[in-house]
Amino acid sequence: EETVSLVQARLREVQDFPAPGVLFRDITPLIADSEGFGALIDMLADRYRGKVDAVAGLESRGFILAAPLAIALGVGMVTIRKAGRLPGPVVGVDYDLEYGSARMEVQPFTVEDGQRVLILDDVLATGGTANAAFNLVEQAGGVPVGLCVLIELVDLGGRSALDGREIEAILSY
Ligand code: 5GP
Repeated sequence: EETVSLVQARLREVQDFPAPGVLFRDITPLIADSEGFGALIDMLADRYRGKVDAVAGLESRGFILAAPLAIALGVGMVTIRKAGRLPGPVVGVDYDLEYGSARMEVQPFTVEDGQRVLILDDVLATGGTANAAFNLVEQAGGVPVGLCVLIELVDLGGRSALDGREIEAILSY
């Protein structure tokens, strides 16, 4: 409760970024504040302690949340990255964007067979990125236990795109 208000107070809304008509949720003031950032990671660690064997971060803002959470939970971190960033072997998933397409990749040797993997990102919008991440964790032999995001943009429909997947959002707009 108190932590959620603290987190909310540290977020910034930016009109027309990165394109006209878009209201961008900026998490950098939160990350820059040791009290808010620390309280968020403590809260997430309490929520997931003992329930996950690894934390997967989505490039790039998901990394900022996943790395400290992994350490707090005493588990390792898996990096899910945009195409071409990771040296092979990799497995990849292509997905559609509003305009065009994108591809995310993971190195399967960074996920152990049957490992319970929590996927972390800053924002859930249409759900395309998160859906690719769920599929990648499965292709790598892991068991994705859910997606945790700081912010869910409800109107963009990510939750229905991820039908049947476990989703936890700290804040919804
Ligand atoms: P989706 O694939 O769900 O449409 O988009 C989610 C991805 O876009 C996330 O990786 C997230 O970082 C980024 N994203 C979309 N909208 C926003 C936003 O308003 N703020 C931030 N920080 N990231 C966003």
